[in-house]
This record gives sequence, structure tokens and C-alpha cells, in this order.
Amino acid sequence: MGPENAIITIDGPSGSGKSTISRLVAARLGFTYLDTGAMYRAVGYQARKLGISFEDSKSLAELLENINLVLAPGDGDTRVILDGEDISLAIRTAEMGLIASQVSAQPVVRQKLTEMQRRMGEKGRVVVEGRDTGTVVFPSARHKFFLDAEPEERARRRCQQLREKGLAADENDVLAQIIKRDQDDSGRSLAPLRPADDAIIIDTSSLGINDVVLFMLEQVEKSEEKVQYESRDERIGKMIS
Ligand code: C5P
Repeated sequence: MGPENAIITIDGPSGSGKSTISRLVAARLGFTYLDTGAMYRAVGYQARKLGISFEDSKSLAELLENINLVLAPGDGDTRVILDGEDISLAIRTAEMGLIASQVSAQPVVRQKLTEMQRRMGEKGRVVVEGRDTGTVVFPSARHKFFLDAEPEERARRRCQQLREKGLAADENDVLAQIIKRDQDDSGRSLAPLRPADDAIIIDTSSLGINDVVLFMLEQVEKSEEKVQYESRDERIGKMIS
């Protein structure tokens, strides 16, 4: 792919397949993968550990000032190191998802993490995954996708993922949690979960992971070709005029 600043954003609700798909798209393109949800989970984890209320914006601001958070590629999920402690597995529980959603509604948390995400992605060649990466974090990203799926299918996938990690999962509980988290994430006033106007929306309910990845790579390739034609036409236009 052409210019260095290519950014691909992939947003959507939990269980839409976006983590697995983002990782695969990044690997196929040789891009860096940035899991923004892991950052909200890490903040939630730290707030709980320090006994800070998830709505106490002053204490959350202090927590964020002092946060020592490192994201590194892992075998599967991103490795998350907080103050030297590997919390990769601890942040993946359904409970931590709900806590992440609560802290993520606080303006101070969104502001700080958005800044960090922009810094991490500014050099480009990155696949950024989350809820607001195409609308707020990188509104001028070249390629934007929004993945969705039926809630029951998302709950089924989420349970499978949790069980694969050795975590307990009841499908009805997970479905209820998913519906609650979606409502909170979509209903909040700040950076709600929604597709960017220029995002390609894909319903993954009955699609295999590989089909979605191939479709996305095709779309990226097509629009890269278009960008190249346009810049070539522009150069030719300048030469003629
Ligand atoms: O994607 P994941 O399930 O790890 O995200 C956990 C929570 O973090 C989401 O439910 C959402 O509330 C929050 N989040 C967010 N903005 C992002 C990524 C995640 O608000 N860009």
C-alpha cells in the first residue's frame, strides 16, 4: 500500500468480530494493530484496584496523569502491561468490559486516551479498533469499517472467546451484558458507538472471519488504487496546465 500515513479504523459493538478481524487485516498488510478497548479496560482495572469511583473524574484524571501503560503485540489479544504487571488476561472478563464502559463515559478519560491513541497512530500504517476510532480519534482516516452482528450471535462468540481463555461464561448472562453495554456505549453523549458517515458497514452475523477479512482487504486495495489514479491525474493536470 502507498503512503505511510494509511490508517484503517474498525469500529463496532462487542462480539462483532472486530478484534480478530482487525488483527488479521493488520497482519496481512504488515500494519500495527491498536486495540483501544484494551486501554479503556486498563483504566477501569486501575480504578478498581485503587478503589476509585468510576464517576469520580478528579481521581480518574490523577490516575491518568500517572498511568504507566504499555501495549505490546501478543499471540492473540494485545499484551497489556500496567505498572510492570501483565494484566492481559485480567482485563478480558465480562465484568471488566462493563467497568471499561463506565469509565469510558467520563470526558477526562476519553480525552486522555484519545490523545494517547492519536500519538500511537500518527505515523500511520495502523489498524485502529474500537468504538469511536472512525468518528472521533481518526476522523480523516483513509479506510473506515463498522462491523455489526445480531446480539445473540455476538453473545455466542463472546462466550466462546471467554471459554477459550478459561474464563466462565453463561450465554444468557453474556447476552444481557452485551445488550446493556451496547445501550450504554451507543446512548452516551460523548463519542457514542456509531458508524462514521463514510464507513463501510458489514453485518458479520452469517459471514466467516476470512470472508470478512478478504472483503475488507479488497475494499482497501480498491480505494488505494483510486487514490493513486486521482493523484496521478492531478499530476498530469498540473503538467498540462
Ligand atoms: O472493545 P472492548 O470490548 O475491549 O471495549 C471495552 C469498552 O471500552 C467498550 O464497551 C466501550 O465502552 C469502551 N471503549 C470506548 N471507545 C473505544 C474502545 C472501547 O468507549 N474506542
